[in-house]
Amino acid sequence: MAKQNIDWSNIGFGYMKTGERFVSNYKDGKWDDGILTEDATVTISECAGVLQYAQTVFEGLKAYTTSTGKIVVFRPDLNASRLQDSCKRLEMPTYPVDKFIEAIKKVVKANEDFVPPYGTGATLYIRPYIFGTNPVIGVKPADEYQFRVFTTPVGPYFKGGAKPITIKVSDFDRAAPHGTGHIKAGLNYAMSLHAIVTAHEEGFDENMYLDAATRTKVEETGGANFLFITKDGKVVTPKSNSILPSITRRSLVYVAEHYLGLEVEEREVFFDEVKDFAECGLCGTAAVISPVGKIYDHGNEICFPSGMEEMGPVTKKLYDTLTGIQMGTIEAPEGWIVEI
Ligand SMILES: *Cc1c(COP(=O)(O)O)cnc(C)c1O
Repeated sequence: MAKQNIDWSNIGFGYMKTGERFVSNYKDGKWDDGILTEDATVTISECAGVLQYAQTVFEGLKAYTTSTGKIVVFRPDLNASRLQDSCKRLEMPTYPVDKFIEAIKKVVKANEDFVPPYGTGATLYIRPYIFGTNPVIGVKPADEYQFRVFTTPVGPYFKGGAKPITIKVSDFDRAAPHGTGHIKAGLNYAMSLHAIVTAHEEGFDENMYLDAATRTKVEETGGANFLFITKDGKVVTPKSNSILPSITRRSLVYVAEHYLGLEVEEREVFFDEVKDFAECGLCGTAAVISPVGKIYDHGNEICFPSGMEEMGPVTKKLYDTLTGIQMGTIEAPEGWIVEI
């Protein structure tokens, strides 16, 4: 299929309407078969559950072209099961894992001409989501839902190399103990908007959220998990019931242990120990790893030895190995790469 005439290396991270999207509706206790449609709009009741009580959960993954020209997605089964976990917590019906993967394949196939070519750094971002559609005014879960998957091409996350960012320790909390921090729900993002706008106004790239109960432990940023590297080359990542289980972070932990022979500690990380780490990075689907050069904490600065010019050496190894696995230049573990 002929590719769209797009300047792939220079598109940003914004919504661009593509050809078709997948839509399935849930009614009378079951999902319908779903269809591909060119209709990019959603028509729902003014009183829909999603609009009144924010009953919506989502996922994010990417389709891209490998070095051998195949169009693939990375570990979509984990997105499918995480979406189910998110649904359960918000009293929403789950969408079957096999049908989820099928829907992803259908949508990517239908928008093949929007999948950026290998080497551009761009990808086709895939956004699956489920939301309550029928009128809800008394507080209760909706009875009807829509599962929708659209795609939009996005540019390379790092143009001209990954420059380390500066983040601040936020005065706001992201997630309560026993709350919803561990699920991928729009509600976690609505309440983070004021915090991120504030951080940007103050000149910071991101927020580091601490645990809401004691404000002594590192949680995550608004949309990425932390990885730290100790001075003796160990990988440390925070463990908490209120952080979102990032698929990128889980994959990097596997890569660290099984490809690079690094020791990994998944444990509570106290903010007090952060100053002693050698490297820091944020992990998520969009960037894989964004290196952090500096953390600002109420007048004190933590500057990592890796500096503000480039990724730390261990972070770089992790980044190169995982992106190599994704792009097909390094052999992937069984089941990680799903061909469209
Ligand atoms: C999506 C998300 C991440 C990153 O998860 P990936 O599966 O790696 O993309 C991290 N934190 C939050 C809060 C998220 O919503």
